[in-house]
Amino acid sequence: MKKQTLATDFDDIFFPLRENIIPFLREKYNLNLKREDFNNYNLQKVFKDKYFWQTLEKLYSFYKSKYFKQAKPLKGSIEFLTELSQYFSFPLITSRPIFLRRETKKFISDFPNGAIKSIHFSRNNFAYAGSRKTKPQICRDIGAKIILEDCLEYALQCAEEGINVILLDAPWNQTMENHPRIKRVQNFSEARDYALSLVRI
Ligand SMILES: [Mg+2]
Repeated sequence: MKKQTLATDFDDIFFPLRENIIPFLREKYNLNLKREDFNNYNLQKVFKDKYFWQTLEKLYSFYKSKYFKQAKPLKGSIEFLTELSQYFSFPLITSRPIFLRRETKKFISDFPNGAIKSIHFSRNNFAYAGSRKTKPQICRDIGAKIILEDCLEYALQCAEEGINVILLDAPWNQTMENHPRIKRVQNFSEARDYALSLVRI
């Protein structure tokens, strides 16, 4: 059986960005946020920063902290890769800043059997317009017909381009009406079951 390509997002799929930035913000900025407060993907809105540079300052300082450097993969994400690895290959598509390439590579180097073979840095629709390719453009280039994602905007972009999206439910992706190409799942075990239903021989 030829493996299909299931592209996956990185932050808040494998990497606990919002989970770990919560204690960081509390410690460093005395900002008390709960997971439910992240009801918008746009961190500037969640942090209630007047200027975007204030948000970037927090993020850049987070990238230097132990909460970033000592982060561990989100619960269930590695099992998801392991259980599906005989059916799918998993290229990463992330809109992280490109200067995090080395840290991103390091994070996935601990994954079993080099489960992730490639990392693609896409345009970030929230930070700046950017000249990089969008997620659906990268999906098309690498032949991915399925993507696992937690960001609604990227999910819709991909779905509109004919890509099947597995959307991992989170407080920041609640504003969507149903879309025929977007399957919302509550956890990795539901994501696995749905991905398996898409296996073709
Ligand atoms: Mg994400």
